[in-house]
Amino acid sequence: MADIVYTYGGKVYLNITNKCPCNCTFCIRANGDGVGSAENLWHKSDPTLEEIKKAIDSFDFSQYDEVTFCGYGEPTYALDNLIAACKYIRSKYKICIRLNTNGLSDLINKRETAREICENFDVISISLNAPTPEKYLEISRPVFGIQSFDEIIKFTKTCKKYTNCVKMSVVDVIPQEDIDECRKITDKLGVELRVREYTD
Ligand code: SF4
Repeated sequence: MADIVYTYGGKVYLNITNKCPCNCTFCIRANGDGVGSAENLWHKSDPTLEEIKKAIDSFDFSQYDEVTFCGYGEPTYALDNLIAACKYIRSKYKICIRLNTNGLSDLINKRETAREICENFDVISISLNAPTPEKYLEISRPVFGIQSFDEIIKFTKTCKKYTNCVKMSVVDVIPQEDIDECRKITDKLGVELRVREYTD
């Protein structure tokens, strides 16, 4: 069975789905079956809530001040399990709960989801990846096409209505001038931009 809870670089993560509407050129999934303590992050089928709870029960989160939902897939593809697992961790631990997302949850779930997500998570980190819809298509190759970039901006704005802890990120595989353009976008949105180092 694939790992649901894993650690990497001194942090703890939850891998609750392998589904993702993107195929990012820099995606870590292309580099191997596992990351950090996880030998295998590929589920035969996505875990049930019971399996996720069992994995949470088997791990001692008390050594960590933050847990992040981020694995070999987009967590909001398993929205019900995501929210339920978040609530379950919160019922057991005083810990900051973070979501790393591609920001396409509304398109994935075919409804507005920002409020529900923001009411449960302490930090929402949204991948911006590129400064324009066209460049986003090139780097993240989403199944939803050219509308995806505007949806991410809309999702970010909506999240900001419900929480102050919204961040965006880019990976340093894009040119510096694109990173600068991304920073203009995040400045305008009033959110912090994190430039993540590409790891292979
Ligand atoms: S959104 Fe995340 S999981 Fe999906 S392809 Fe891009 S980097 Fe990989």
